[in-house]
Amino acid sequence: MEEIEKVRGILLERYATLTVKADVLKAPELKQILAKIREVPAEQRAAYGREVNNLREELQAKIAAEVKEVVELPPIDVTAPMDVNAGIPDLLPSSNGSQHPITKEIAYMSDILQRMGFRVYESREIDNQYHMFESLNFPKDHPARDDYDTFMTVEEDKDGSRFIAPAHTSTMQNRILRELKPQLEDGDVIAATSIDRVFRNEDLDARHEHTFYQHEGIYVSKGVNAGMLVATLQKFLEEYFGKKIEVRVNPFYFPFTEPSFEFSLTCPFCEGEDKTCKVCSGEGWIELLGCGMIHPKVLRAADIDPEVYTGFAWGGGVERLIMMKYGIEDLRHFESAKLDFLRQF
Ligand SMILES: [Zn+2]
Repeated sequence: MEEIEKVRGILLERYATLTVKADVLKAPELKQILAKIREVPAEQRAAYGREVNNLREELQAKIAAEVKEVVELPPIDVTAPMDVNAGIPDLLPSSNGSQHPITKEIAYMSDILQRMGFRVYESREIDNQYHMFESLNFPKDHPARDDYDTFMTVEEDKDGSRFIAPAHTSTMQNRILRELKPQLEDGDVIAATSIDRVFRNEDLDARHEHTFYQHEGIYVSKGVNAGMLVATLQKFLEEYFGKKIEVRVNPFYFPFTEPSFEFSLTCPFCEGEDKTCKVCSGEGWIELLGCGMIHPKVLRAADIDPEVYTGFAWGGGVERLIMMKYGIEDLRHFESAKLDFLRQF
C-alpha cells in the first residue's frame, strides 16, 4: 500500500507538468502496479486492487474535470459575420516572415553535402514495406522492425502488406542505388543524401516526436572502407558546426549495415571541459547517429555486386543537430508554431 501511495505522489507531480493530461494513465509506474495485482498474495489482493483502482479513478476524475473546464469556454461562431469595427488582429506581417528553422538548416546541410559531391534526394511520406524493410535486410518478422514502429494505412499493396509512413529515410536507399547503378558501372561513384521527414509511433516528450527529420547518406564505389565513412561524417559535421570536432565510433547493430557503428562526437558546447554541461551531461561525448558499411544483401537487392563494390551509409536526426548547434532544450519547440521561438531564426 505504501508503494501505491508513492506512485500516487510521483504521478500527481508529473500530472502538473504534462501537456496532454490523459498521458498520466499511460505512465509505466501505473501499469506496473496494475500488473502487480495478479502477483499479490490472494488474501491481500482485493485490498491492493481496490487501492490501485482508487488511484486510477482519482486520476481519471482529474482529467475529466480539466476537459470540462475546456469545454465550458465560450464557443466561437466561425460563421458569424465579420465585425467591421473590430481592431486589427495581431498577425505577423508577411514582410516579417522567415523560414522555419528546420527548412533553413536542411537547406544548409544539403548544401554542405552537395559541395562534398552528394546528390540530394527527397524522401517520401508513404511507402511500401519492401522499401522500408525487406530491401534493407529486415526480413518479415525480423525483431529489429519493432524499433521502427510507425504508422500504417488500412489499404494494402498487391502483396497484402499495409503501406507505411516511413520511419527512416533509408526507405530511399534501394531506389537511389538502382537509379545510380549505371554511373557506378561507368566508373563513377554513388554518393547521395536524403534529408527529409520521417514518422514514428512515439509518445511525445522533450526528446521524442512522432514526426521528425533525418539526414541520410550513402556512398558506393570500389574499395570503400570504414575510415572513409568516419572522415566523411567528420568533415560534414565540422562544416555544419563550424568548428573542429573529435569523433569516435563504437560497434553497434543495424540489419542494413555490417559492421555497424554508433558515431559519437566531442560535445561542441563544452569540448569535454565542463562537467556540468547539459548538452553532453558532462560526458564530453555525444552519441549522434548510426552508420556502417552497407550490408552485402542491401547491395544485392539493388543488383549491385558486393564482391566488386562496397559502400557506407549513415542516418541521424536533423533536429538533434539543430538543437546541439543552437542549444535548444526541447524538441517540441519546432512544431509548436510559437512565434517567440521561430522569430529567433
Ligand atoms: Zn558538453
